[in-house]
Amino acid sequence: MKYGKEKMTDPLYLKNTYLFEVDARITEFKKDEKDRPYILLNQTIFYPQGGGQPCDQGKITGSGFEYAVRDVRQVGEEIRHPIDLPQNSMQDFCENCAVKCIIDPDRRLLNARHHTAGHLLGNVVEELYPGFKAQKCHAFPGESYIEFQGTEAPNELLLSEALRNVVAKNLQTKIFEMDRRQFESTYYKLPYEIPETKKFRIVQIGNYPPIPCGGTHVISLMEICEVLLKKMKQKNGLLKISFGVK
Ligand SMILES: [Zn+2]
Repeated sequence: MKYGKEKMTDPLYLKNTYLFEVDARITEFKKDEKDRPYILLNQTIFYPQGGGQPCDQGKITGSGFEYAVRDVRQVGEEIRHPIDLPQNSMQDFCENCAVKCIIDPDRRLLNARHHTAGHLLGNVVEELYPGFKAQKCHAFPGESYIEFQGTEAPNELLLSEALRNVVAKNLQTKIFEMDRRQFESTYYKLPYEIPETKKFRIVQIGNYPPIPCGGTHVISLMEICEVLLKKMKQKNGLLKISFGVK
């Protein structure tokens, strides 16, 4: 099916981490390949799981109904809001039906704090130890880690102190857009392909090197409180640092 532009969902979570409630309109009510119902909205604050970050959870309410939303995913262009739907409640959903989206603010902020802490840890390690290059960040609360390519042995005390000092400076995160040509002539060569003239979203903490990212971030580092280093492990030229936030 061709998915017209007017049906695409405006992802408000990319514009404002702190928007926890919004009015929206149902654009489509569909079922997935396993016959599970989901709805599409004209705009949403539900972050779909991806980029090493869990999805938002919450509820979608409307005239006389309220459904929990737990497992939001993006499939192609669709941001799918799956719902547990009793057999007789299909009439709750109609195209253009007005609804309210409400997300769990504590979960959103905990995810954003972990995700932003991951960026910061990557920036600080690369600054202190230029031989390291961050490769992968998984920022699920309770199981967060970053993997770096590099073989040095970082000093945990030094790294913890550097992180504390940067958080105390309360640097701000900035979000902006550029295309690949602008980005690479201003900052550094990207290690992967992005179409040359397509603009993409970039996050930057203070004056650290910016990075393309579609996640949710806190605006100021003080909101992280403290980055806790839990474990460091070197194996096969990779350093894995497990971390949390306090
Ligand atoms: Zn990010």
